[in-house]
Amino acid sequence: AVILGIESSCDETSASICIDGEIKSNIIASQAIHAKYGGVVPELASRAHQLHIIPTVDEAIQQAKIHKNDVDAVAFTRGPGLLGSLLVGTSFAKSFALARQIPLIEINHMQAHILAHFIEQPKPSFPFLCLTVSGGHTQIVLVKDYFEMELLGQTLDDAAGEAFDKTAKILNLPYPGGPLIDKYAQEGNPDAYKLPEPQIPELNFSFSGLKTAILYMVQAEEKKDPNFLMENIADVCASVQKRIVSILLNKLKKAAKQTGVRNMAIAGGVSANSGLRQGLLEMGKQYQWNVFIPKFEYCTDNAAMIAIAGYHKYLRKDFVGQDITPLARMHV
Ligand code: ATP
Ligand code: MG
Ligand code: FE
Repeated sequence: AVILGIESSCDETSASICIDGEIKSNIIASQAIHAKYGGVVPELASRAHQLHIIPTVDEAIQQAKIHKNDVDAVAFTRGPGLLGSLLVGTSFAKSFALARQIPLIEINHMQAHILAHFIEQPKPSFPFLCLTVSGGHTQIVLVKDYFEMELLGQTLDDAAGEAFDKTAKILNLPYPGGPLIDKYAQEGNPDAYKLPEPQIPELNFSFSGLKTAILYMVQAEEKKDPNFLMENIADVCASVQKRIVSILLNKLKKAAKQTGVRNMAIAGGVSANSGLRQGLLEMGKQYQWNVFIPKFEYCTDNAAMIAIAGYHKYLRKDFVGQDITPLARMHV
């Protein structure tokens, strides 16, 4: 079966073709416009999606060397995300399916981040634990089957990606700052600055206290030396990254203990972080876990993860009608 996947939940317009479970193309149009504002501006995002959606789908179809009429079903991100952005992908998917009289498949974006693990080998076996860390979410999910997932814990305030991006803002780095903190961290001393590890009950997370601690630390150091940030950016980034990673991995360790599950995966944009990837590998060795880390291009928002999730729903004939509407909030 040929599945067209469409992603438009935030600020990347993406289209992908999946043929019998194999990804043939994954085109991503990112929106540079938001950097100017230090974050995603919803109204601008939805306009940019309208501009990009048709050329992005065309390119995905071309690169897969198929014709529009070969598509057997359209899978699209229903939510969670920005409503105006979701509407563009949803409307396009509905029209495409209606015009060709082919089935329509709704996909939960957070499930899709997890199902990105089924794009390539090695694929995790069920059940597995997934630490989903992205711009809007931080979750520990028990994945029992493709579409049977249980939320074990989540952030009570900021998401891990937000912690990276908001810290980057404090450090005067441009948006999105996560990848830049990762880059600077590689040349810094992770033990240069002591940052607190919050004591949050159960398998939940909190990052807002850390953000405040970083702000106060930077302000205090800048009082002593106005060039503090310029001279110590690598050490600050390395220390911040070390703390965010330890908060995440300590909870994953706790979840492993609680559930007895030893297949461990990470997903979402922050799973591109080199400190998290390395930390998980080390912890996995120590506790004899089977560790699954997605390829970089399948960590941040992409339509390949929507198309592969769509393929598995197609096999189950799990289709929706033309009355479907996007949802800003959705559970895994
Ligand atoms: P959600 O999936 O929760 O709706 P989103 O789709 O906006 O949110 P993603 O695209 O999955 O999120 O991830 C984007 C986030 O990942 C941003 O916060 C970005 O800073 C962060 N990120 C990307 N690469 C890295 C990296 N190497 N290190 C740290 N953070 C990173
Ligand atoms: Mg994005
Ligand atoms: Fe995402």
